[in-house]
Amino acid sequence: MRATTDWGFARRTRVDVGEGLASILALSGATDLISFAGGFPDPETFPTDELAALVQRVSQDPAALQYAPTPGLPGPRAFLADRLETREGQRPSDEELLITSGGIEALELLGKSLIDPGDLVLVEGPTYLGAIMAFRSFEADVVAVPMDDDGLDVGRLEATVRERGRPKLLYTIPDHQNPAGVSLAEERRSALVEVARRHGFLVVEDVAYRELGFTEDRPPSLWALGPDVVVQAGTFSKTFFPGVRLGWAAGPAEVVAQMVNAKQNTDQCAGALGQRLLEEYGRRGLLDEQIDRARGIYRSRRDTAMSALERHVGDRATWTHPHGGFFTWLELAEDGADVARRALQAGVAVVPGRPFFSGVGGERNIRISYSQASEERLEEGIALLGPIVRARA
Ligand code: PMP
Repeated sequence: MRATTDWGFARRTRVDVGEGLASILALSGATDLISFAGGFPDPETFPTDELAALVQRVSQDPAALQYAPTPGLPGPRAFLADRLETREGQRPSDEELLITSGGIEALELLGKSLIDPGDLVLVEGPTYLGAIMAFRSFEADVVAVPMDDDGLDVGRLEATVRERGRPKLLYTIPDHQNPAGVSLAEERRSALVEVARRHGFLVVEDVAYRELGFTEDRPPSLWALGPDVVVQAGTFSKTFFPGVRLGWAAGPAEVVAQMVNAKQNTDQCAGALGQRLLEEYGRRGLLDEQIDRARGIYRSRRDTAMSALERHVGDRATWTHPHGGFFTWLELAEDGADVARRALQAGVAVVPGRPFFSGVGGERNIRISYSQASEERLEEGIALLGPIVRARA
C-alpha cells in the first residue's frame, strides 16, 4: 500500500494564482488546439542553422563546458555591456551587471535578496504572472497599481505609496507589456523615476519585449533614466531563443552584489555554453538580424490579429493596440473565465484575465497572444472566438 504522507510543504507554496503558469504552458502545448495562450516566441525565428555551426566551434573552448563565475563569463559580459551601451546609451560597470538564467531568475534573485515575509511589493494590474508567483514565493504582500493605455498610472502609484508605506520594490514592464500590450508613456518614465527617488524604493524594470517594437519609437529605459534606483531585468528568450535560458540584471552595485550572492546557491552560474553561444552569435551581428526579422513577423501577426478582431468581434469587446511584443488584452462585457472555457471547447486557447492580477481584477478580461500562431491560424482562431464573445446586455 502507498503511504499518504503530509510532506509539510512550506507556507510560501500555498498561494492561489488562479490557474498558474504551468497550466498555461500545458495548454499551449496541445496540438489539436489553436493556441493564443502562451507568451512563446515563434520557432520560425530560431537560428537553427547558424547555431549548429557555432556549437561545433564553441564546444572546442573548455570555458564553454566548465563552470562559469557567478556573474557570468568575461566575454559574454563584455558583449552584453557593449550592447546595453549602444541600445540604452549607458554602460553598466562590472559591479552593476549580472548574467542570469533567463528573466524569471532575475526576478527570483531580487525576491531572494530583498523580500522578507509580509514586505510590500507593488506591481502593475495586470502584470506578468511569473512575477506575481516569484514575489509571492517569498511571502511578499503583492499589491497592484492600475494602468491605462499609457502604462502604469504614476499618480496612483504615488498615492498607493503614501497610503501603504514604502514598498520594497515596484515591478513594471514598461515596453509592450505582458499581458496588456501597452507601453509606459515617455513623460511618465521620468516621473516614475522621480517618485522612486522621492520615496526611496527600488524599481524593477522588466524589458522582456523592449527590443520587439514595431516602430522606431523607443522611449528611454527606466534604467537609463535612473541607474541609482532602477534594476533592469532582461531576457534573451524572446530575441534569441528560450531554450538557452539567458537573461541579465543591470542596476545599482549593492543590489547586484546581493543578487550575485543569492545566485551562488540558486544555480551558481548561468550555463557557460549558452553564454558563449550568445557572445559569438551576437558579435557576428546575427542577433540584431534575428531581432529585425522577428519584429517583421510579429508586426504582421499583430496586424492580422487586429483586423480579425475588428471583423469577428467588432464592438462586442474592446482591446489594446500593441506597438510591439506578443499580446493584446481584451475587455469583455462578461466573465473572462467563461469565455476562455467556451473558447477551449471551440478549439481556441486564450488566457482569462484573473491570474494576471494580484488581488481583485481581470474578471472581464482575456489575453490573446499572437506571437506563435501563423496568420492563417490567427484568422481561423479569432473567427472561432468571435461568436463566443457576447454583446453587452
Ligand atoms: N518577463 C516577462 C514580462 C515575460 O513575459 C517573460 C516570459 N513569458 C519573462 C520575464 C521570463 O522570461 P525567461 O524565459 O527569460 O525566464
